[in-house]
Amino acid sequence: MNKPKMTTEKGVPSNSRVLMLLGQLERLNREAMLADAEIGRQITAKILHLIQTQEKTRKEIMSKGSSGMEVILATLENTQDLQTILNILYILNELLTVGGGRRVGVFVSKGGTGILLQLVLSGSKESLPSEELMLQLHSLLAKVGPKDRKFGVKARLNGALNVTVNLLKQNLQNHKLLLPCLQVLRVYSSNSVNAVSLGKNGVLELMFKIIGPYSKKNTSLLKVSLDTLGALLKSKTNARRAVDRAHVPVLLYIYQDWHRNDTRHRHMLIRKGVLGCLKNITNIKLGRKAFIDADGMRILYNTSTECLPVRTLDPLINTSSLIMRKCFPKNRLPLPTIKSVFHHQLPHVPAGGPVAQLYNQPLGVDDVVDESDDNDDVETENDTENEEEDKDHHARNDDIETDINKLRPKETNSRPFEELKIYERFFLELSEDFQRFNFDNPKSGVTATPAAPKSQRPIIVPTAQALPPKYPTAAPLQEECHLAKGEQPHPEASPLAPAPTPAPVHTLDTINITKDHDGCCDHSQVRPQPGLEQELVQGMERVALEGTGPQGGAGGGGVNRHYRQPPLLAGGVAAQQGGGAEETLAEEWAEEEGGEGAVLEVPDTALLLPLHDPDLYVEMVKSTRSVPQYSEVAYPDYFGHVAPTFREHILERVYGVQSPLPPYRTKIFQDIERLIHPNDILDKVVYDLDIQSCPVIDDGESLKFNSQFESGNLRKAIQARKFEYDLVLNSDINSNHYHQWFYFEVSGMRVGAPYRFNIINCEKSNSQFNYGMQVLMYSVQEAISGRPRWVRTGTDICYYKNHFSRSSIAAGGQKGKSYYTMTFSMTFNHKDDVCYFAYHYPYTYSTLKMHLQKLEALRTPQIYMRQDILCETLGGNSCPLLTITAMPESTSNDQICQFRNRPLVFLSSRVHPGETNASWVMKGTLEFLMGSSPLAHSLREAYIFKIVPMLNPDGVVNGNHRCSLSGEDLNRQWQSPSPELHPTIYHTKSLLQYLAAIQRAPLVFCDYHGHSRKKNVFMYGCSLKETVWQTNISATSCELHEDLGYRTLPKILSQTAPAFSMASCSFVVERSKEATARVVVWREIGVQRSYTMESTLCGCDQGKYKGLQIGTRELEEMGAQFCVALLRLKRLTSPLELRNHAHLLDVESDLIETRCKVSSSPSTYVLEDEEHSFMEEVDYSAESGDEPDNDPDAADPHDNRLSDSESNNHRDSLT
Ligand SMILES: [Zn+2]
Repeated sequence: MNKPKMTTEKGVPSNSRVLMLLGQLERLNREAMLADAEIGRQITAKILHLIQTQEKTRKEIMSKGSSGMEVILATLENTQDLQTILNILYILNELLTVGGGRRVGVFVSKGGTGILLQLVLSGSKESLPSEELMLQLHSLLAKVGPKDRKFGVKARLNGALNVTVNLLKQNLQNHKLLLPCLQVLRVYSSNSVNAVSLGKNGVLELMFKIIGPYSKKNTSLLKVSLDTLGALLKSKTNARRAVDRAHVPVLLYIYQDWHRNDTRHRHMLIRKGVLGCLKNITNIKLGRKAFIDADGMRILYNTSTECLPVRTLDPLINTSSLIMRKCFPKNRLPLPTIKSVFHHQLPHVPAGGPVAQLYNQPLGVDDVVDESDDNDDVETENDTENEEEDKDHHARNDDIETDINKLRPKETNSRPFEELKIYERFFLELSEDFQRFNFDNPKSGVTATPAAPKSQRPIIVPTAQALPPKYPTAAPLQEECHLAKGEQPHPEASPLAPAPTPAPVHTLDTINITKDHDGCCDHSQVRPQPGLEQELVQGMERVALEGTGPQGGAGGGGVNRHYRQPPLLAGGVAAQQGGGAEETLAEEWAEEEGGEGAVLEVPDTALLLPLHDPDLYVEMVKSTRSVPQYSEVAYPDYFGHVAPTFREHILERVYGVQSPLPPYRTKIFQDIERLIHPNDILDKVVYDLDIQSCPVIDDGESLKFNSQFESGNLRKAIQARKFEYDLVLNSDINSNHYHQWFYFEVSGMRVGAPYRFNIINCEKSNSQFNYGMQVLMYSVQEAISGRPRWVRTGTDICYYKNHFSRSSIAAGGQKGKSYYTMTFSMTFNHKDDVCYFAYHYPYTYSTLKMHLQKLEALRTPQIYMRQDILCETLGGNSCPLLTITAMPESTSNDQICQFRNRPLVFLSSRVHPGETNASWVMKGTLEFLMGSSPLAHSLREAYIFKIVPMLNPDGVVNGNHRCSLSGEDLNRQWQSPSPELHPTIYHTKSLLQYLAAIQRAPLVFCDYHGHSRKKNVFMYGCSLKETVWQTNISATSCELHEDLGYRTLPKILSQTAPAFSMASCSFVVERSKEATARVVVWREIGVQRSYTMESTLCGCDQGKYKGLQIGTRELEEMGAQFCVALLRLKRLTSPLELRNHAHLLDVESDLIETRCKVSSSPSTYVLEDEEHSFMEEVDYSAESGDEPDNDPDAADPHDNRLSDSESNNHRDSLT
């Protein structure tokens, strides 16, 4: 036989029979000889036969470079002969069945889809359409459709949609044809325009004819129909149609029927398909209503409960719980208003913004819920979900500053030097000549106290509230004898001398304090609750102090109102705030109760906590001003916190598709049970600040709550079930949101009972509580047994969106938002305990004052330390400013000159009250700076430190999370702070402006913060270059000339501080941060090394502390390491120094070793949470399309710049 020659590609045998046949076919096409049907039929039949019998022929046709597919498609397009067409369709079916996506891809790219759709249309026009043709065409389309992104559009434009639908309608009993048609329909339906059009054509009804109650027959048909239906119901119109035609009860019925009969769980996918339909219908309000009306909650709750034991049914439970949560009726937060309970009258209201809005809100407006809250937003958002994500992504990039002018130093100094000159008095060291001091004999005990500042008073700006200074620690700068180096300072009045002297005792419920009598207020008397005595005094030495009952005399008898209740362990230590009418009560009480009673011991922590002194603490509290006029002291702040020596691991969570978050699911189901079994819900208010006389229920059936002490934050507590409480946090003062920080007291607990606490008005869309962070608890029983400490505690901790709706007022105009619940479970170990819970280790303003006073006592003749009052806050508290450096060695010119010319380091902290970790880091810094180590000494000789340790005392005192009393985030006010509304920021910035004006801008500026969503400690800095690189702005190369010095300090920290992570640092300048300390100090003051240092609230996922939750020890260590890093920075910036102090480098590494003693070996625990993937599982909102899961701060209602402190969208961070 004469074999025709064919052009072939490399590697393909030229004698291939199939290629020869294809060559013949190609010639037929070219020569228009297909008219001769018989030849075409024969050739295609031969090819088909080869393909069916020889695997290699398929490969030959589909091999790269082969034109086989073109030839086949061209033939299909040209021929009119049905048999030839069928042959080719068989060939294609054979070819495309194997080989995966690539072959289909080739088919699609050669235009195969269009040809098939054309054949569908032309075939349907035949008077008697060939069933076989339609069957083959649809089988092929079912294979090709999902791989062709334009398939839906092509089919619609071509008119094939209706052909398929009509075919279905006519062949409902013809299962052979039905299946491929349904498969094609399923692909059509995934296009939203098609879905609407198909809905109009009655396809919904068609699907309901196919799906039905349990049957073992035709399950694949059923499955495809359900998928198709599910896809169609994504359209709002179709969902409404389904509701109108009462399909919701039908679907529920079908679901139950399958649930009952599919006992061996062979048809999980069908059951999931039904749920998928319900899930989409309930995206619309009508759908949710229909679901509730059809008793859907109970049905899904019951079926889910029955599914719980079977692990493979988890997807059903998850989808069910998702639907139930979506349909759960939105509740009103149980509050009269979301405005903060306490209000502070401002000197003037800011012209615009959220505070003005709050003040201008007409009376009687309900700000808790919107009128019609349950709207259809869910679906609107769902439709644009992907777009939103894109937008969000762009928004993140958009936040990077692209205006090169805003990245250049700001030239104009807005303030004349004359105006700044008043700040000179805070920089006495820059002009100090030390002529008064005797340097010849430093060891003689001669005081080397720097000249007392000429003014201890804060700067009073004429328009500001002119309150007299009352900061108590500022005074004692007299000439007094200072302790020699090495000697332990001994606070003269402190009764907490080192053991074995028995510590003095204090009452558990009252300590009476006279406000005006210094030194005579630490008389304590003990009055524990009858019956508690045994417990409380067990194992303790009783030492009764003299002095009984409340102090008499003017101003001495005040007692807070909690004394009206029977004496309880609860209630904290009372620090009385002055006399008045309450005196009478106090006297009554004194008569009734007398002063006798058991004696309780204050834990002796003097050795462990050198900066802590309970009596001094109470003394400090007396001068602290709070808006609610707190008169109690919380035990933890009084006793102090001794960091535990054991490790506290980040909770290991079980993630995974098989069993997502069992604790989470259990909690959700408990929430749903409230609806299913409403009679089980007590709904008993046990604590409520909105009621004038906050009820304290003491019937033995409920826990008692309290948060009326410094930094406390709890607005309301409702007992939901016997051992379950809903808690509501108060908004920041003069605000209607910003709650996250909490600190409250619980008492009256039963030992071993499984308590569940739910904080129900959280705002952020995610939290480290979902990634292994635990709450902190402090037990008074533990404290008086010698373990005064906060410990990480709580089990089954989850954070999730709840069913309490958030009004548009509270959500920046967005409707349909919800709050989030943070829930944890807890069993108490001690009877009659008083326990405290907090978001993070509390650090009050009074604690700071106590620490500063104690630090001052550490001053040696070598240390120059000064405390000034920078200014008064709106609430009448003083803002301390510290100056720390080394005394000059002599009064020689050289020495004085060196002293005055030391570079400055400017540190600040706690602008955000909820970030208590920042204060603990600051404590570590201060303690190191005042220390006696050679390193500390070198550091003091190297720099002058200017420190504002608490930029927002009012916020801290009043339990705010983020704002000051002005209701604003102070870290967004640095561009133009108001002297009246933001005095601490105004004056801190002025100090820096003064320094810039005298050419003494600091070498380093760093503001300490806490970060709620990231792990580790890290820094944000400012770099023009790195910002420009992230954007498309064109900048000339000279503009991009930038010293890399800003990276040095974080780099050093990453090498020395175990908690620090360089990988988390960023040096990009964002628009949303243009008014933060970091950016303003960089740009306006010209400080190249201007930073925000962020410390995690949770723990570390790298380094030595990997897998551990962070504690005060690690935070304080971080503060000390920061100092060490500054010393290294100094050496790197001045090489000469290095030579002189080379020996110190060893000391330095020693120190680094010894200070890090918390965990001796690296933890082997490997953190498994991939936080983003976890997010997808836990946050059902992503799936329901309820809201795009932005950075919560980006969705901040009032100001999208209100990202948490220094965090931002771009970095997905909060601070
Ligand atoms: Zn912050």
